[in-house]
Amino acid sequence: MRRLLLSVSATLWLGLGTGCASAPGARSSSAPSATATGRGGAAATVDERATAAALELLKAGGNAVDAAVAAASVLGVTDPYSCGIGGGGFMVVYLAQDKRVYTLDHRETAPQALERSRFYENGGLVPFDALVTSGLSVGVPGSLMGWSEALRLYGSRPLSDVLQPAIRVAEQGFDVDSTFFEQTRHNVSRFRDFPSTATLYLGPDGQPWPVGSTFKNPGLARTYRLVAQGGVPAFYRGELAQAIVDTVTHPPVAPGASRTVRPGVMTLDDLARYEALVRPPVTSSYRGYTLYGMGMPTSGGLTLALTLNLLEAYAPTKLSRADFLHRYLEASRLAFADRNAFLGDPAFVSVPEAGLLSRDYAAQRRATLDLTYASKGAVAPGNPFAFQEPAPAPHTSLPEVKRPAAEEWVLNKETTHITTSDAAGNIVSYTCTIESEGGNGMVVPGYGFLLNNELTDFDLPASPELPHPNAPAPGKRPRSSMSPVLVFKDGVPVLALGSPGGSTIITTVGQTLVNTLDFGMPLEQALAAPRVSQRNSPDNTSQAEPEFIASPEAAALVALGHRFTNAGPIGALTAIRFNPDGTVTAAAEPRRRGGGSARVVTPVK
Ligand code: GLU
Repeated sequence: MRRLLLSVSATLWLGLGTGCASAPGARSSSAPSATATGRGGAAATVDERATAAALELLKAGGNAVDAAVAAASVLGVTDPYSCGIGGGGFMVVYLAQDKRVYTLDHRETAPQALERSRFYENGGLVPFDALVTSGLSVGVPGSLMGWSEALRLYGSRPLSDVLQPAIRVAEQGFDVDSTFFEQTRHNVSRFRDFPSTATLYLGPDGQPWPVGSTFKNPGLARTYRLVAQGGVPAFYRGELAQAIVDTVTHPPVAPGASRTVRPGVMTLDDLARYEALVRPPVTSSYRGYTLYGMGMPTSGGLTLALTLNLLEAYAPTKLSRADFLHRYLEASRLAFADRNAFLGDPAFVSVPEAGLLSRDYAAQRRATLDLTYASKGAVAPGNPFAFQEPAPAPHTSLPEVKRPAAEEWVLNKETTHITTSDAAGNIVSYTCTIESEGGNGMVVPGYGFLLNNELTDFDLPASPELPHPNAPAPGKRPRSSMSPVLVFKDGVPVLALGSPGGSTIITTVGQTLVNTLDFGMPLEQALAAPRVSQRNSPDNTSQAEPEFIASPEAAALVALGHRFTNAGPIGALTAIRFNPDGTVTAAAEPRRRGGGSARVVTPVK
């Protein structure tokens, strides 16, 4: 059965096209490869120029952390609607010399003066679209502090060196591809409302720069140079910090723009006080593998660990693929029930981490799972507090959320994942974002980068006084789903991976782990496999890609009561697999988001 089902998936995958170079929507005609195997270090990103920058650092003797930051800074130029210094991220680092995993939280943070009441107006909520394109939703950016801390603590090159490839790409320009063009096109009307954005990302005719034209970003090159010379203080203090504060508090709207752009309340002090935080990884095990994920304020690590704890009791070899997938979807549903109820910034919320990770808790929750039929609706959270010492006060009922965090319900958003390794065995799994495609739409005038709208990742209860673990508060970090992960077996690295996709990030990473670790799929096949995502939906429906819905597995799941809605493409993974012969295989999506780029320093045929 297993072989049969694997071959079904393989057929589906092959049917999607094997290479991004010839696929419609490929990012460039220069044929980046989505998979590479070899030695001496590796990098996989969504963009060939970012991967090339990582390789440049690795070839010059830099380590995996230098390579990841170089790639991220290039993505700030070439993939500016997904990530950049106006945003934040979560980085998981393995240092071979220490044999330890470190994680670095550089999530955007709510300004100190941002009272929750600002998200409410006239007895209701500020409309979602208005919040996205506003100063209100801008969190204090964390990327640059994260890059700087990552290099200082774990890297081998100074920021001034690592930024050089990005400065070059920003100055010399790059060819606009169809992905960049399409992402700009989606944003034309709001970009036109901000002259600083329109003059950068739209041509003189107010339209996106055409595919094949050369796009340069001298403003961002200047910003990167300022930072290369002045370090992080050049961003978090002084003229640049002032420009960020001015943009947030006095949005640079075009005269006559139809949209009302609500100002935010960020101050110079908020920027000066920003900290990237080294946190303990979320450590869990699954069938003899050890997983290191990112802790709160991203829910990714804990939700993934809980899903896999629930699933571990079911042997994939003893079940049909559909029966196993049924358990996977129901486990994911249970895990999301707890995620939604309990997880928030740990500086503000008592997160029941030990309880959620306890095997006894997983056993109790698993006992509620119907092995024969899909849940007909959302399931209630459990009580993980009872499974930890000392048990904090029992959980009280969760207030109704009027508007869940954007990442729960807005699909096809942006964000990006970078995976790198080096010859010494160091590894980085790094997800970064500016939240929506194009962030909040405002380029900081003269500095060439978009600001994030990360504060739309807060949940909004029906009224501002109701409690919720992920409700906004001054100085709070909104709950994320970003799930950079490292997998080891007996202390030896096996896999590094991550993805964008809002809350589907967790299910995309989970499904890829299951396909790889349980079903033995080769990495490139696991990345290409059609996706399905269950996040405790209010009915028996999971979101899925059309290729999944058309599969025999989906038909078998429908017979078990599952339903599927077409979500279009879900996620865009990058990963590195550490092979038993000492080589590594780096892989990026072959097709989604136009396909990515994976390279190794010394390829093996
Ligand atoms: N803001 C989302 C998060 O932190 C990521 C956005 C996306 O991937 O679409 O989880």
